[in-house]
Formats: sequence, structure tokens, C-alpha cells
Amino acid sequence: MTARLLIIGPPGAGKGTQATQIATTFEIPAISTGDIFRANIKGQTELGKRVQQIIESGELVPDALTNEIVADRLQQDDAKNGFLLDGYPRTVDQVHALDAMLAPVNAKLDAVVLLEADTDEVVARLLNRAQLEGRADDTEEVIRHRQEVYAEQTAPLIHLFSERGILVAVDGLGTVEEVANRINTALEGVLS
Ligand code: AMP
Repeated sequence: MTARLLIIGPPGAGKGTQATQIATTFEIPAISTGDIFRANIKGQTELGKRVQQIIESGELVPDALTNEIVADRLQQDDAKNGFLLDGYPRTVDQVHALDAMLAPVNAKLDAVVLLEADTDEVVARLLNRAQLEGRADDTEEVIRHRQEVYAEQTAPLIHLFSERGILVAVDGLGTVEEVANRINTALEGVLS
């Protein structure tokens, strides 16, 4: 099945885990801009050096740079017949850029999964993860700032996708399996 999907939700809602699961279920690649940036930071590439400080402060990487990276990634063969985007688009500008990338191949997003989660709950989860993984740079301040950036810049996209009639809201609270079942049931309903 061709499926062009996006998973959206506040930082810490469990998007990464569910993205991997959805990608396997629908046999499409999961594309995470956060993962691409982190891999570049780890490899100390030019791109990594450019984005490191921005990411560590919890700000967003500029739209133009992010759009360019996604445009490149979507050109690759494995993304021709579908993909699941995780963490992109994150701003209204990025939505328009993605529309422009897909238009030439007569494609558009088929569904947007909104993983709903309470802010206090996700902050607690992220603090716990920072401690477990020894990510000392993931301070409460940065974690809270990421939530603010999400509320200001990304949350407005929910309304936009809802108006397009492609939004599927799923409760993100529960075990990985419970949430996965909710997502897959909801997606099968809208994609069939
Ligand atoms: P994530 O793993 O999706 O939470 O992304 C980690 C960080 O990478 C974010 O806090 C941003 O600094 C940056 N980032 C990831 N995706 C985007 C995007 N679509 N636009 C701008 N910055 C992004």
C-alpha cells in the first residue's frame, strides 16, 4: 500500500517508538529529521556542526536548511512509494515546503497521526529518560523549552491538518502495544 504519513505530537509522547512500528507495519521508511541531525552531530559533519548548538538549546533548526534535507531524503528510491515522517514538518512554512516537494509527483500526505499526551506527563518522561541515558544536557529547562516551541510553532499544524481532513488523533497514554494498536486501527480506517 502506498502511504504517505506523518506522526506529530509533543516531544516525549513516544513518536520515535511508534514511528518505527508504523513503518514496519506499512512497509515504508521512517524518516526522522531529529535522527538525521543527531547522526550528523555524532559524525561531526558540516551539517552537524551547524545544528548542534541550536538543537542543544531546544530551538528549531532553520526551515530552509531542514526543508533541503527532507527534499533530498524524499528523492531516494525507498521513499518513492510512501514514507512516514517523524518530526517534520514542524512549522507552517515546512508544511508548505513539503506540499511543494510532493506536488510534482502528484502526491500529498494521506494521514497525520497526532499522538496526544499531557505536558506534565511528557516532561516527567523526558526527565526520566535523560537520567537513565545519562543525557546531562537534557535539563528540565531545555525540556520545558522544547514543549514551548512545540506549543507555539508546531501545535498550530494540528488545526491545519484537521481542516484538510487527514488528522487522526490517538491517545498516547498506555503501553507501546496499546498505543500501537490504536494507531494501526485508526490508520487502517482512514487509508482503506
Ligand atoms: P526530535 O528528535 O524530532 O525531537 O528533534 C530533535 C531536535 O532536532 C529538535 O528539538 C530540533 O532542534 C531539531 N529538529 C528536528 N526536526 C526539526 C524540524 N522539522 N525543524 C526544525 N528543527 C528540527
